[in-house]
Amino acid sequence: MSKNQNKTGSYSFFNCIEKNFDKAARFISIEKGLLEQIKACNSVYRMHFPVKIGKEIKVIEAYRVQHSHHKLPCKGGIRYSMKVNQDEIMTLAALMTYKCAIVDVPFGGAKGGIKIDPQTISSENIEKITRRYTSELIKKNFIGPGIDVPAPDYGTGEREMSWIFDTFLSLRSGDVDALACVTGKPVSQGGVRGRKEATGLGVFYGIRELCHVKEDMYSVGLDVGLVGKKIIIQGLGNVGYHAASFFHESGAIIIALAEREGAIYNEKGLNVSKVFLHLKNNGSILNFPEAKNIENTEKALELECDILIPAALENVIHKNNANRIKAKIIGEAANGPITPEADEILDKKGVIIVPDIYLNAGGVTVSYFEWLKNLSHVRYGRMEKKFRENVNAEFLKVIETVCKKTISIEEKKMILRGPREIDLVRSGLEDTMINGFHKICDLKKSLKIENMRTAAFVLSINKIIDSYEKLGIFP
Ligand code: NAD
Repeated sequence: MSKNQNKTGSYSFFNCIEKNFDKAARFISIEKGLLEQIKACNSVYRMHFPVKIGKEIKVIEAYRVQHSHHKLPCKGGIRYSMKVNQDEIMTLAALMTYKCAIVDVPFGGAKGGIKIDPQTISSENIEKITRRYTSELIKKNFIGPGIDVPAPDYGTGEREMSWIFDTFLSLRSGDVDALACVTGKPVSQGGVRGRKEATGLGVFYGIRELCHVKEDMYSVGLDVGLVGKKIIIQGLGNVGYHAASFFHESGAIIIALAEREGAIYNEKGLNVSKVFLHLKNNGSILNFPEAKNIENTEKALELECDILIPAALENVIHKNNANRIKAKIIGEAANGPITPEADEILDKKGVIIVPDIYLNAGGVTVSYFEWLKNLSHVRYGRMEKKFRENVNAEFLKVIETVCKKTISIEEKKMILRGPREIDLVRSGLEDTMINGFHKICDLKKSLKIENMRTAAFVLSINKIIDSYEKLGIFP
């Protein structure tokens, strides 16, 4: 058993990331001390605070971890789950550091977590806990537009981000940049259009890019393109639902969807919005009229398919089920869904794994856009939309005169349109995901790196090294 393994022979989650980091470090020649600094978690704040729930006082356990201060503010989501622990939050914070570097988002990595099960707590009590957690972060200077900026993650969403903002504003009244203390807010509260679906859309862009690389597709016996590819998605939450919708719209076939209570399967394809409606109305995806139930939800991961997208939680593909996974491509929409042992098994089988530190970076990319919007206090497109439309109209007139042809009203509408916020956000996200993909692949090729995960880590670590080298080390 290696020193990184615990008594049961499994790696702790943080050790998993260290293991991936060490594989990448083989391709980097730099002083060992600097690599150790990049790996280490800079600040870990573990807290316990009381909240009155009904007539009882409940002691709540929570965390905020800032993995790296090489760029500020730190950035990372907050998750609500009974599985929250220090090791998990440290790992997720570290992933954020590497992720931000890959997509050129100028933040250090952070993550937060509260050990509660939001499904069993009333919304009033979730609000109390969220507000108290925020005030604890404020007290210790662990939140602020230039310090540390949380976002949604597993078990949280726009509602919680709104409460965090409101609590911050109440305790820091007069701070003109207060909106930038948290991202993933509703649009009416300073959020940016396109944030909610950003992670899922980023997953779609990343996988679409891979599916257009001939040599990769041929290496796993698939045709080029997404149309007709059979996809399985685990987790129909924020990330999984949006990813599933974009894949479905693009002509891919969603053959199975897995949730906590079980999975559903239809070889001919599932209509994602119909399944989501069924889930909303019935509280479960099971018994969807156009599909077969799979009682043991984990078994859905092992079905024959082209692409498997785990979009729920970490460590769902491990040494005990990796050999039974039949997917040719795995897109890590969730953070850390594959353990290092499973990673090695899948690598040997020739499965292409698109790693989390790249694939789910769409969320933080659009969070960055939201943060910039909040600091500039103006909606994207507000200044240039009409100007662009006027210039386009002039341009069209010239074309019509020169060509002696009238352009149809429909075509005109499309050409004249100035950019709206959603157009700018989505094009910024698409460009970021395409660039990130090709940077990883180019590095993989030029250094003959064995897989995308190690190449992504090399790319990311090199960028962080560059940043440390230019900063110097404060005495
Ligand atoms: P979410 O809470 O919105 O959704 C998670 C879904 O997974 C829920 O529907 C839940 O019921 C389901 N689930 C839980 N256990 C399951 C199991 N054993 N089998 C099948 N389904 C199960 O969370 P989310 O925001 O979609 O996050 C999902 C993953 O994506 C997490 O790993 C998170 O860290 C990662 N992520 C999220 C974002 C974001 O912007 N929200 C960004 C980057 C990465």
